[in-house]
Amino acid sequence: MNTGYEYTRETEGEAGMMQNIGVVGAGTMGTGVAHLFAARGYPVVMVDSSEAALARSRELIERNVTLYPLVDGEQPRLDAREVTRRIVFSTNLRELKDSDFVVENVTEKREIKEALYPQLDSVCPPHCVFGVNTSAISITRLAARTARADRVIGTHFMNPAPLKPLVEVIRGTHTSPETVDRTRALLDGVGRDSIVVNDAAGFVTNRVMMLTVNEAMFLLHEGVADSAADVDRLFRDCFGHRMGPLETADLIGLDTVLLSLEVIYDSLRDSKYRPCPLLARMVDAGWHGVKSGRGFYEYPDAV
Ligand code: NAD
Repeated sequence: MNTGYEYTRETEGEAGMMQNIGVVGAGTMGTGVAHLFAARGYPVVMVDSSEAALARSRELIERNVTLYPLVDGEQPRLDAREVTRRIVFSTNLRELKDSDFVVENVTEKREIKEALYPQLDSVCPPHCVFGVNTSAISITRLAARTARADRVIGTHFMNPAPLKPLVEVIRGTHTSPETVDRTRALLDGVGRDSIVVNDAAGFVTNRVMMLTVNEAMFLLHEGVADSAADVDRLFRDCFGHRMGPLETADLIGLDTVLLSLEVIYDSLRDSKYRPCPLLARMVDAGWHGVKSGRGFYEYPDAV
């Protein structure tokens, strides 16, 4: 699609300088993404509507810098203070006015993301690319809320972002080849490989992953397995998975799993994605997994 946009090193904001990274949403994913870019030396502006989320995110990054290597086998080059010093934490979206690339990681609700994109569009410079970090929401639909649909792309980071070497990049209907190239080059610069897929609810990863974790919950709910630990151990020790499906769900955040299943179910109208009642009950109880200190397991050290 010809949008009249010409890609140059200057428009990328690269002319000898690192691109300014914007991160919106300071929850589980925004925290990891900001950490990843800041630890690689990028200036980052992180915006969340909640002061409490920003404070928690800063605390988590300071803790995680000492826990996580940047990529497998590579040790952090910066100490915790140096990493957080590269991040401006703010509740004001206008702080993104100099961004070259924004990774958006707000709550997995269509109405929240759809309301955000016109605001981002009015605040960020025209050359800025919007990377949508979503589990299942249509990139095309969000892009259509902006006047830069060719510069909107899915950047589905995995959790925890500072540790995962591969990003699922999603090409929306409007996404230009230049945007795909810019995105992959940026990811490459932070040591991330990428695989490009086309836009569809849940993409490749979550069409499979959400179905799997949901089915594991049904097996517990129906009493087929006696415990979450039994389910997870079968996957670890029989199939060699690093984590079982229920520990994975706790890591993702059970609220995010529920929202993602609802988006995929609504989009595909396929009953196999109906969320397990046990999941809905746990979310109602406030048991959101690692981030809340309790899910299928307990996490006494949760920040
Ligand atoms: P989260 O609930 O942990 O954090 C969401 C954050 O967004 C919160 O801090 C909230 O205050 C903030 N927020 C909500 N509305 C906002 C707005 N209008 N402006 C600014 N901030 C706002 O969620 P998460 O797990 O970090 O997920 C974020 C996105 O990443 C979702 O779309 C999710 O599907 C996707 N994702 C999650 C995972 C995972 O493992 N958790 C993995 C890949 C992608």
